[in-house]
Amino acid sequence: MRVAVIGAGVVGALVVRELARYEAEVLLFEQEADVGWGVTKANSGIVHAGFHDRPGTACARFCVSGNALFDEVCRDLDVPFRRTGAYVLALSAADRAVLDRLRAQGEENGVPGLEVLPGGEVLAREPNVNPAVVAALWAPTVGITEPWALALAAVENAAAGGLAVHLGEEVTGIRVDGGRVRAVQTARGSYPVDAVVNAAGLYADQVAAMAGVPEPRIVPRRGEYVLLDKAAGDLVRAVLFPTPSEKSKGILVLPTIDGGILLGPTAADLPEDAKEATDTSGDGLRAAVEGARRLVPKVDCGLAVKAFAGLRPESPPQDFVVGTTAVRGFYQAAAMRSPGLTAAPAVARWLVHEVIAGDLTLVRKASFDPVRRGPPRVADLASEEWEARVREDPRYGRIVCFCNLVTEGEIVDAIRRGARSLDGVKFRTRAGFGRCQGGFCTDRILAILARELGTEPEEVPLRDPRSWLVAGKIRP
Ligand SMILES: Cc1cc2nc3c(=O)[nH]c(=O)nc-3n(C[C@H](O)[C@H](O)[C@H](O)COP(=O)(O)OP(=O)(O)OC[C@H]3O[C@@H](n4cnc5c(N)ncnc54)[C@H](O)[C@@H]3O)c2cc1C
Repeated sequence: MRVAVIGAGVVGALVVRELARYEAEVLLFEQEADVGWGVTKANSGIVHAGFHDRPGTACARFCVSGNALFDEVCRDLDVPFRRTGAYVLALSAADRAVLDRLRAQGEENGVPGLEVLPGGEVLAREPNVNPAVVAALWAPTVGITEPWALALAAVENAAAGGLAVHLGEEVTGIRVDGGRVRAVQTARGSYPVDAVVNAAGLYADQVAAMAGVPEPRIVPRRGEYVLLDKAAGDLVRAVLFPTPSEKSKGILVLPTIDGGILLGPTAADLPEDAKEATDTSGDGLRAAVEGARRLVPKVDCGLAVKAFAGLRPESPPQDFVVGTTAVRGFYQAAAMRSPGLTAAPAVARWLVHEVIAGDLTLVRKASFDPVRRGPPRVADLASEEWEARVREDPRYGRIVCFCNLVTEGEIVDAIRRGARSLDGVKFRTRAGFGRCQGGFCTDRILAILARELGTEPEEVPLRDPRSWLVAGKIRP
């Protein structure tokens, strides 16, 4: 049995990991040069509780069940995850009424531990919140994670179990004969397969169309963010939401898993073909900061280190499109709008174990090991542990990225795990993600990549083989 999964975002990555538990040949196709560089790369990184989602939807069901799986999945895959909890802040009497509605909706969805707290208690717990706060809905199960790290970890784990990873290989066609899937086509050839899982994010509409399946329609909705430096890291401890609008959960203030503070996202609907429009705008960033200051007036933009945007794969029914289709062997894990990151572990488990395994009569593999060891991070080590590591390998004593404390040893480890570009190293190690945004370490990372890959620095790509940083030597 051969199964192709299209898309190495967090959804496709967790799907291939579940498939790795069965006796099947699994192929993962990703058009980008690395894992997790689609929608998974730019979002809030929140593991939502599930009170925002309309009862009865797939979003609500998989958000609540996905949230409950995060401790286990992140422990097994060695991915950072912290349950910070979240407050939805009511700043007026009208907002206050929304909290009761959200709480009732959450309870209907099965969200545990929801409580409405008085404003004074919220201020005692989060002193930087707007003093006008009247009350807040407290959701203790909300957490934060590193979405691309989860995708990378799941693919590494599945690859150890036999997955064939095809990076930089876009699927351009799907052959369907007699109403069933037969092959996927790329520029490198045609791969006979018995089944295809569509986890193509913003392009899930195009992939579905390749199989002759009309759903889903995908409409990008842009969200712009401002990231504040770790110096602002103690501004808030939990995730802060405003009361939601019809369109989105609103502009938030939240801690990032590596100690910064994130402001945003905005929500702007784009034309259907604007699937790469991740540019930021003055208006968008101003809106992100103003929205954040409503919740936390002390937000200091002098501490901003980066602005970026992500595109949500929205679809008109405002729900995930998951499961079987009219084409035999063509399965969808599509229209994964927010909270798709939260829902991903539950969608992957349900789709593989409840739908695909039965449909294709897959047999469980006794040998699959669900545990994967993550990359070493000296920033997380006690000084004696760090010293011991340096004694074993002096490269862990050579700091390359001073903002995020990343050593040469960690960069070499990232290259061993598959990084082939500056961005590949950045997303695996956080080198270049800090205050200087690579200003002081890029040249050293470039030199390490060139040395380890046996190439010249000018051959090392920024992101993929079409982009590089150094145009040539200025001195021989
Ligand atoms: C602004 C914003 C904020 C969000 N905040 C949250 C949040 O806090 N919590 C939460 O739970 N969710 C959040 N989400 C939603 C979450 O990010 C997505 O649901 C999730 O990342 C979707 O993952 P995916 O794997 O479906 O898509 P992707 O990560 O986009 O993966 C799909 C992959 O398919 C590849 N691909 C496409 N077409 C082809 C092809 N033909 N051949 C080969 N490869 C192909 C793409 O390159 C891409 O890498 C947010 C989203 C955005 C944009």
